[in-house]
Amino acid sequence: MDLKLSLALPSAATAAASTAAAAYELHLLSSLRTPNNLGVRQTSLRRRKCNSPTTGRIEPPYPWSTDRIAVVHTLHYLTSNQIVTITGEVKCQQCRRIYEMEYDVVSKFNEIGRFVENKMESFRDRAPKEWMQPNYPTCRFCGAEKGVKPVIPKEWEKINWVFLLLGEMVGALRLNHLKYFCSYTKNHRTGSKDRLVYLTYITLCRQIHPSGRFTPI
Ligand SMILES: [Zn+2]
Repeated sequence: MDLKLSLALPSAATAAASTAAAAYELHLLSSLRTPNNLGVRQTSLRRRKCNSPTTGRIEPPYPWSTDRIAVVHTLHYLTSNQIVTITGEVKCQQCRRIYEMEYDVVSKFNEIGRFVENKMESFRDRAPKEWMQPNYPTCRFCGAEKGVKPVIPKEWEKINWVFLLLGEMVGALRLNHLKYFCSYTKNHRTGSKDRLVYLTYITLCRQIHPSGRFTPI
């Protein structure tokens, strides 16, 4: 990537996206150069009060997020803290409205959990069709079938992972978003999109339910 050229572009949105991408690149460099994170620790002390994509420490963007990039809370934490519904922004591709949708955490996660358990053997480390081509919701306003897609924030650390999981819309992410997730969750970030979508789903399921139910990767 030509960083200087990207940052020189005038659009604020492009600049934000470039910053996220630049921070991600920096994170990759940091993890390569300091395998034990020894060198990164000093940086984290200096930046304790602000977000630091290089160390993976952030202000949690949602009540169901932790202070680590791409790491979400467990189901036990959520239910213990009365977080039973999670929300996320969607945008209609037809009428262009942006609005919030919500999911019941327990029932939706159980539904996905059952799907994973029943199909795990047939996945062969690749996302099934249902995950690659999400069954997008119908627009609440204009009725466009499969018309709304999740809004992906320009700042990648604010990507609403639990919302994407529960809505089974992880497949809406681009390859770079998925690589970003995998890099912060110690997964191999190489491979085709169906491999990375699979890893993202299974990793999120393991984060939410870490007891071993979703161990095979
Ligand atoms: Zn609409």
